[in-house]
Amino acid sequence: MDYYSKQINQLVEALSLLPGIGSKTAQRLAFHILNMPKQDVERLASAISSARNNVRYCKHCYTLTDDDVCPICKDQSRNHKIIMVVENTRDLVAYEKTGKFEGVYHVLHGAISPMLGIGPDDIKLKELMQRLQGDIEEVIIATNSSLEGETTAVYLSKLIKPTGIKVTRIASGVPVGGDLEYIDEVTLLRALEGRTEL
Ligand code: ZN
Repeated sequence: MDYYSKQINQLVEALSLLPGIGSKTAQRLAFHILNMPKQDVERLASAISSARNNVRYCKHCYTLTDDDVCPICKDQSRNHKIIMVVENTRDLVAYEKTGKFEGVYHVLHGAISPMLGIGPDDIKLKELMQRLQGDIEEVIIATNSSLEGETTAVYLSKLIKPTGIKVTRIASGVPVGGDLEYIDEVTLLRALEGRTEL
């Protein structure tokens, strides 16, 4: 039996698709939205669909960006010979916030996880190897210190080492299993500065 209007039910169902949103929260949000000024609801709706339709991968580093090439890859004052490999765009943002990294990035969009059936072909690894055919001095592996992050780091270093490019891993100041984006800037900076060669 429908307690609400069909429209409200549809809204609740759509909101429940979001991660961390159970049916109670979805109901609460739905009623909140119905009470919002119409122009705010329009803004929210159009921000969602415009981001979904227009955000794309940078053709060099694969971060999420509005243009074909992201602002970091466009920036000629950065050192394009040092590539930091991160799992996702949120991790990239966390490192950018430290303001101390002058190289560029490569975003894998995931990590290798045999348990979840995510293999090397499911992340942007081939794309990284293609980039390494250029003039690259160092690859800093900054995947998370979770099992998946470490598995990816080991896999990557084995793949890159034969190319003669220096491979480093960020220091283990980063708590095990900790997602990089939740770690403060000082810890990230220490992890970066204390990186060791693999
Ligand atoms: Zn880029």
